[in-house]
Amino acid sequence: MSQKYRFETIALHGGQAPDPSTTARAVPVYRTASFVFKNTQHAADLFGLRALGNIYTRLTNPTTEVLEQRVTELEGGAASVAVASGTSAIFYSIITLAQAGDEIVSANNLYGGTYTQFDSILPALGIKVNFVDQKDPQNFAKAITPKTKALYIETIGNPVLDFVDIKAIADIAHANGIPLIVDATFTTPYLLRSIEYGADIVINSLTKWLGGHGTGIGGIITDSGKFNWKGGKHPLFSEPDSNYHGLRWAIDLPEALAPIAFALRVRTVPLRNLGAAISPDNSWQFLQGIETLPLRLARHVENSQKVAEFLKKHPKVAWVRYPGLKGDPSHALASKYLSKGFGGVVVFGIKGGYESAVKLIDGITLFSHLANVGDAKSLILHPASTSHSQLSPEQQASSGLTPDLVRLSIGIEHIDDILEALEAGLSQA
Ligand SMILES: *Cc1c(COP(=O)(O)O)cnc(C)c1O
Repeated sequence: MSQKYRFETIALHGGQAPDPSTTARAVPVYRTASFVFKNTQHAADLFGLRALGNIYTRLTNPTTEVLEQRVTELEGGAASVAVASGTSAIFYSIITLAQAGDEIVSANNLYGGTYTQFDSILPALGIKVNFVDQKDPQNFAKAITPKTKALYIETIGNPVLDFVDIKAIADIAHANGIPLIVDATFTTPYLLRSIEYGADIVINSLTKWLGGHGTGIGGIITDSGKFNWKGGKHPLFSEPDSNYHGLRWAIDLPEALAPIAFALRVRTVPLRNLGAAISPDNSWQFLQGIETLPLRLARHVENSQKVAEFLKKHPKVAWVRYPGLKGDPSHALASKYLSKGFGGVVVFGIKGGYESAVKLIDGITLFSHLANVGDAKSLILHPASTSHSQLSPEQQASSGLTPDLVRLSIGIEHIDDILEALEAGLSQA
């Protein structure tokens, strides 16, 4: 947008002007697989990246483009690529900058699916992931080798909600000529704009708070446009790319496109040839959700803070982790970064361990027992037996996942109804 609007306004208007051909106010859903070329020259220019435009919905789609532009503006980045899931957004980001023989250094407190991707799938493709305890940024510095292509973190880590010192880790990445990839799903750009603290690539699972209604699966990658791919550490950007007729992404692109080399390579190499494209219908759902992101998030964080404080005082609760709690190990650090609240997830340990957790989850009303976060409705889960069950007992222990841990994703219902449901559920457990 030419005018610089504030976050709440971008959430409603970013990336969209009323459709010029129909004057529709809402973003139309362009349900089409392909787009008609003006002539053969136009077709050749599109394929040669000499002109930007729609070819095929696996690559770009006008509905998805509004979503991409809106998230780009909300994150303060240069370009975004929406894909079929947060999971594919993570995978495509990694393989855009790393190949067999390369390494990534990652925080060890990760979303369960990401952990398995990094621990099993990437190594099988020849990309080694060195996991470090993210609480000390120096652990990243120590794990970097000449083969390291990126550092990887989550803003608020799964499963115990440790906040991470983004700026310190970004500085370490940049001192080593490599980018920092940040999974910002648990904060969304409303609570934290990671690019302002040095993130080079930001990933959001649209499935969670951005969409906000549990109605679809999607992910988005935002390129800050600031990383220098010419630094010599990334041959996938400085050497001729056999995936794209010998283009050297860091060198050959026209000046206007050079800053978004990463986003372009995501789109034209993995997205184009591996194909985890988002459907325009889902892009539309996520746009609807984003319109109310600031309102919903404000309620999510307000309710979560109250739930954390309620649990902290509850006799059946052994411990609570929420970055917004005074005295939480993450509180001081998180307070430096988060001024609008500390996210929508609260985790706690229930006295009586696994047995009590089962009684609580099976008995509680209002909360839905399911594997998701970020729905407008309140959710409950026992990660050790579900989302993180692929991890070995040692891996679970090292990421802080204990058998008594219950995860709550706090919705935007009336706080009294949420607290009454928890009180009743805990009294049975
Ligand atoms: C859900 C989630 C993902 C994966 O996103 P999907 O859209 O479910 O594929 C990745 N990271 C975090 C932190 C998540 O919460």
